[in-house]
Amino acid sequence: MIYAISQLAYLTAGALFILALYWMNAPTTARKGVFAGVAGTAIAVLVTWAEPSVIHHRWIIMATIAGFAVGIPLSRVPLTAVPQRTALSHAFGGAAAGLVGTAEYYLHVAQSPAELTPFRMAAIMAEIILGYLTFTGSLMAAGKLQELKWIPQRPVTYPFQNAGNFILLAVAVIMAIVLVLHPTASWAPTLFPVVIALALAFGVLLIIPIGGADMPTVIAILNSYAGLSAVAMGFVLDNRLLITAGALDGSSGLILAIIMSRAMNRPFTNVLFGAFGQVKTATAIDETKVYKSETVEGTAQLLEQASMVVIIPGYGMAVAQAQHRVRELYDQLRKRDINVKFAIHPVAGRMPGHMNVLLAEADIPYTELVEMDEINPEMPQCDVALVVGANDVVNPAARSVKGSPIYGMPIIDADKARTVIAIKRSKNPGFAGIENDLYFTDHTWMLFGDAKEVVGELVKQLGADLGASQGKAA
Ligand code: NAP
Repeated sequence: MIYAISQLAYLTAGALFILALYWMNAPTTARKGVFAGVAGTAIAVLVTWAEPSVIHHRWIIMATIAGFAVGIPLSRVPLTAVPQRTALSHAFGGAAAGLVGTAEYYLHVAQSPAELTPFRMAAIMAEIILGYLTFTGSLMAAGKLQELKWIPQRPVTYPFQNAGNFILLAVAVIMAIVLVLHPTASWAPTLFPVVIALALAFGVLLIIPIGGADMPTVIAILNSYAGLSAVAMGFVLDNRLLITAGALDGSSGLILAIIMSRAMNRPFTNVLFGAFGQVKTATAIDETKVYKSETVEGTAQLLEQASMVVIIPGYGMAVAQAQHRVRELYDQLRKRDINVKFAIHPVAGRMPGHMNVLLAEADIPYTELVEMDEINPEMPQCDVALVVGANDVVNPAARSVKGSPIYGMPIIDADKARTVIAIKRSKNPGFAGIENDLYFTDHTWMLFGDAKEVVGELVKQLGADLGASQGKAA
């Protein structure tokens, strides 16, 4: 009876995980998806804890408290730091899988060697290799994204790097196979930590040839490795829910990585195998080119005269936390019956959906958010393209400059609008480290400053203009 109840609870948790992923597909249902995921996890933990075989309650309580102590501060990081936060949680997931595999092996060696069947041993070895490499790989990825001084951001490459990495992995796999065949040999418990050390080293070596620009994609791949190690852990512990959850995690991470690679036009294999293929370097910035600047008053006038305005948000809007000011700007423009759309690039910001989340937080109607493929044909009819802290995703070099690090990446055709106003703080390049010719075209004006401040001033100016015109009319 207890078994039937626990299996039913696992089934419910599994269904909630699937629903969570499904609901996260659309902004309108995403919140429901988060609750479903949390409910599924809570059910899974409580039901497993209630199993009669679980006796070390004190340890579980301590681990739960430790989990909360780490998890609560991690949940408070700003949205711009979510990629590195995600990498850290994958690191914990990988470490957990690795440690469980290690504990299972040594417990069985000491107490029940007969249970170390080839199948269980193969699952343990897969779990520890994937778990430990995910651990160090994710820590490296988090460090690169956090721009820690002692971890180089640029790809670090050296001769025979890929060959060396693959030899290292091959040695670890061969040792793992030997251990699967002879799990209880007198030397096996000594060889086991060597495989762990190789997996830890491989995680580091896998990430160092990959530059910061590919890091969010790498995190999605590490997500799928963490999921696969959880699948292996499910086989080791004979826990079907863990197998289901791990498989969902593994496949969704892989799908996300493929989507991101496509959106950035980076070959997936290049990301997957580190510095496979060419590592592209940033081009030098031409200091002689001249920008045209515009004032807040001038921009307000331009906007007031427009009948269609497309706002293109990017990473700078996220850093400046300017989304609420952007909402106020939207309100001001709508009061004048101006058609306002938000053009959403799939990799604007630092994670997929970054802009959707920010704009939803500011209560901007979903119906005004237009995907890149849909807005681009409308750009020639757009009177003002207002670029708010976006750079690479509006860089025309992606269409025309062969050899550019972003060549081939689909972009939002801001340059096709009648007028472009670009808000950013300086002449610095964007994420890819390259100059943006959009800023030097005849019909582009720069509005330099912090996005939150500048958009705030624009809102004030538009408000004052409206007040003045209503005063005149009265
Ligand atoms: P971006 O190329 O990183 O450019 C952001 C711009 O915002 C910068 O040029 C910066 O210029 C400006 N900025 C920064 N802080 C600002 C502030 N407080 N106020 C105003 N402006 C500010 O951003 P993007 O156009 O959104 O492109 C995203 C990049 O990330 C792409 O290269 C993409 O491939 C990469 N990426 C994204 C994802 C993803 O999932 N979203 C994944 C992997 C890689 P100043 O310093 O002059 O202000």
